[in-house]
Amino acid sequence: MRKSVLKNDKYRNKRGGYSRLLEISCEKCRGFICFYQKDGPGNLRRMYLDRITKPDVPINNKMLSCKKEHLLGAKIIYKKEKRPAFRLFVDAVIKKITKS
Ligand SMILES: [Zn+2]
Repeated sequence: MRKSVLKNDKYRNKRGGYSRLLEISCEKCRGFICFYQKDGPGNLRRMYLDRITKPDVPINNKMLSCKKEHLLGAKIIYKKEKRPAFRLFVDAVIKKITKS
């Protein structure tokens, strides 16, 4: 796999400048969803669209689901930043930190 370059911008800097690249999969069927750059500490509750890379499922829909149509999250606009994101349902995805 090609080395992914993490984005470095105002969103990242606001969150302390610390980022990890996560591999996101469906909790139910373990199907791969996407890679995701998580900025800052804390749990993953939202996935911002500008941080999703190499998605294996459509991300232009209102809902996020895996290929087997398990629902994973709903699209929102994160008001503070006017940033489109998926609000993830509780325990819908599994996250694995990738070595980048
Ligand atoms: Zn699934």
